[in-house]
Amino acid sequence: MIISIASGKGGTGKTTVATNLALSIESCVQLFDCDVEEPNVHLFLNPVIHKKEPVIAPVPRIDLEKCTFCKKCMNICRYGALAVLKKDVLVFENLCHSCGGCFEICPENAVMEKDRSLGDIEHGSVKGIAFIQGRLSIGQVMVPPIIKKIRSYTDPNLITIIDAPPGTSCPVIAAMNKADFILLVTEPTPFGLHDLKLAVETVKILGIPCGLVINRVGIGNDEVNRYAEKENIPVLMEIPFDKKIAQIYSRGEMIIEKMPEYKTKFQNLFKKIAQIVGKKEGGK
Ligand code: SF4
Ligand code: SF4
Repeated sequence: MIISIASGKGGTGKTTVATNLALSIESCVQLFDCDVEEPNVHLFLNPVIHKKEPVIAPVPRIDLEKCTFCKKCMNICRYGALAVLKKDVLVFENLCHSCGGCFEICPENAVMEKDRSLGDIEHGSVKGIAFIQGRLSIGQVMVPPIIKKIRSYTDPNLITIIDAPPGTSCPVIAAMNKADFILLVTEPTPFGLHDLKLAVETVKILGIPCGLVINRVGIGNDEVNRYAEKENIPVLMEIPFDKKIAQIYSRGEMIIEKMPEYKTKFQNLFKKIAQIVGKKEGGK
């Protein structure tokens, strides 16, 4: 089972939910930190890292001896990564999505491959959990290939928990796509509701069942609950706005270890998710 934990907005407690949920399940879990621009799961879990591997993507390099400056490569590139001049071809590597279009279309075989390092992924373990995190290199912007690389290590025999990046753009889709369940973490504020609505629209397009964790209950209003009811999205857990929880978080500690009653609450959250996924599988 793959559970992707997302939020329309940063700072809602997504990583808190992902780490505490993973630890509370106790066995057969792999945890992927796909927030590759700012991975922070490791700050809470302190995993032992035992392997690091680069994520490479090909970008074009033009052989000007062969090029006839026909512009076919420029015209096929949807990302504006190529500019064919009278006697030169400019490649804007940071715009290239490595789709391969220009390599295929060139009639002169003048487009060669050049490796570009996007970032790396690290493999580790902590408390019986298999852990993988990605890290985007400074100056790079292509996040989805790193997330896809992390997800290529999905073990179907394990429960996979994905800490997705915040927002609703391509990286989030890469982290949510083909999950069995999407757990959206939000907070009961107008900002939380606004970004939750965007996240729900994205989830609807993907057609994956979802549920909510409402964090910091007590700081805002009940608009998020009313929206969830209207949209028929189950609220699976509420975490109160509690000074003790905030202090635990700020020290980089785990709630389920410092407040053991939360271990049962996160285990119940997992049971509810498993029931929803089970019903969907049964209904196929
Ligand atoms: S398609 Fe090939 S030949 Fe045409 S401009 Fe591009 S690199 Fe040059
Ligand atoms: S690989 Fe795709 S995105 Fe990159 S330059 Fe070629 S056509 Fe454009």
